[in-house]
Amino acid sequence: ASDATEHDVVVIGGGPGGYVAAIKAAQLGLKTACVEKRGALGGTCLNVGCIPSKSLLNNSHIYHQIKHDIKQRGIDVEGVSLNLENMMAAKDKSVKGLTSGIETLFKMNKVDYVKGTGSIANENEVVVKPLDGGADISLKTKNIIIATGSEATPFPGLEVDEKKVVTSTGAIALTEVPKKMVVIGGGIIGLEMGSVWSRLGAEVTVVEFLEAIGGPGMDADVSKTMQRLLGRQGIKFKLATKVLSGDASGEGVKLEIEGVKNGKTESIEADVVLVAIGRRPYTEGLGLENVGIETDERGRIIIDQEYRTKHSNIRVIGDVTFGAMLAHKAEEEGIAAAEFIKKGYGHVNYGAIPSVMYTHPEAAWVGQSEQDVKKSGKEYVVGTFPFIANSRAKTNLDTDGMVKFIADKETDRILGIHIVGPNAGEMIAEGVLAIEYGASSEDIARTSHAHPTLSEAFKEAAMATYDKAIHA
Ligand code: FAD
Ligand code: NAD
Repeated sequence: ASDATEHDVVVIGGGPGGYVAAIKAAQLGLKTACVEKRGALGGTCLNVGCIPSKSLLNNSHIYHQIKHDIKQRGIDVEGVSLNLENMMAAKDKSVKGLTSGIETLFKMNKVDYVKGTGSIANENEVVVKPLDGGADISLKTKNIIIATGSEATPFPGLEVDEKKVVTSTGAIALTEVPKKMVVIGGGIIGLEMGSVWSRLGAEVTVVEFLEAIGGPGMDADVSKTMQRLLGRQGIKFKLATKVLSGDASGEGVKLEIEGVKNGKTESIEADVVLVAIGRRPYTEGLGLENVGIETDERGRIIIDQEYRTKHSNIRVIGDVTFGAMLAHKAEEEGIAAAEFIKKGYGHVNYGAIPSVMYTHPEAAWVGQSEQDVKKSGKEYVVGTFPFIANSRAKTNLDTDGMVKFIADKETDRILGIHIVGPNAGEMIAEGVLAIEYGASSEDIARTSHAHPTLSEAFKEAAMATYDKAIHA
């Protein structure tokens, strides 16, 4: 196997981390190839993650709103029905458009797109097994960036068939609405996909091991508010409950569950079980053993501050290494890794990475949760503002939720911002910028925000940290 061209950079994995690293490296004048094995660029995020789930969240929300919320707006609609096949087709169209868009970006930036499975043979060589079954291709390279991402963590003893027992990949592609769905894990995937199927008519029960929903990092007020609002939408929660075992041999799936505190066991049944207990780094077939690169106890590839493994020319970014498993975090690292290679420096501000849960209302946050600030021992103040007191939310008949600011008591510097509300995911961008610039909450409160907009709630919550809000 041989390929005469030597590359400056070979990126393994074409997800948000890998494709962005490849484009940036090429823009910096480095001869770059990107190896991807799934037959489409965009990784988990574009193919089976962020994008298809948001398509279904958006369209199921519109369906649900027309069914349950449209009369109060003075619109009478009759004969509303779900066409799941078309809803899925709309999702597939968005995915296709975006993944092929990245192929165009590769062409424009002269990134070589190599379709196949990449394995590191040695520090300066990646061997690719082509997707089309041809002979192995050898890519000689000065640098390697590993961006192989993650996969769903399986639940022991419950085999995933992506039909009855599904991960998120099956949950974005069901061909009919299940009557009963049980979600194992009340994290972001569980709540987003649980919302989709609940809106489309499934009876959804979320079983969560911890006492709160939302997964790690969610502020307790946000978690409680979201549980109340999602509960009102019909999702049932079994918190502090452990799934002991599952049996999918019958028509449906039977789960044995146990209360964490009282040890009481019961069994519940579902047509479809969604396993959403987290994701784990994916390094299968990558050849890490050929170069002695190690992973930690959770399978994450060990790196230093500059994303380097023990070989300084092999760097690692995104879900396969440390940090939040988020597409925009992987993208930032992709740019930084390419810049480290070309310029010797690069930077990601991990204190200013937003999180968004795209339920309705959305939840979004940046910085520390109140429980984290409390733990740090720092003195702090909290300012909140409810959307019920915001004029735009009122005219939109969309008033659930609130904005919460946490600021340093002494300096007023913003420590964390947490939003539950309509468009929270867009609104948080202002908070991320504020933290990036080291703003105080007073900086935001004295910045004019257009009226009537939802962002006035953001301003007033900031005001409430050091003074009183006007409208609440
Ligand atoms: P990935 O996107 O996983 O890409 C890795 C790629 O590498 C894959 O395409 C894989 O095929 C390829 N690969 C692996 N090994 C090899 C090999 N040896 N050779 C060649 N190719 C290889 N994040 C958000 O920020 N916002 C969201 O709304 C969001 N929604 C999500 C919804 C769902 C249902 C899921 C599952 C995830 C979601 N995420 C979201 C998380 C997001 O998808 C990931 O954080 C992101 O995709 C990580 O990017 P990555 O480049 O590190 O890895
Ligand atoms: P998660 O870590 O967010 O949540 C998993 C939940 O499952 C946790 O609350 C955990 O306590 C619970 N759990 C674990 N084992 C359990 C068990 N045996 N029984 C019951 N509950 C159990 O993981 P996820 O929701 O699977 O998401 C995976 C990753 O994908 C996350 O890192 C997330 O950030 C990312 N993602 C992000 C978005 C977004 O940004 N909107 C959307 C989807 C996924």
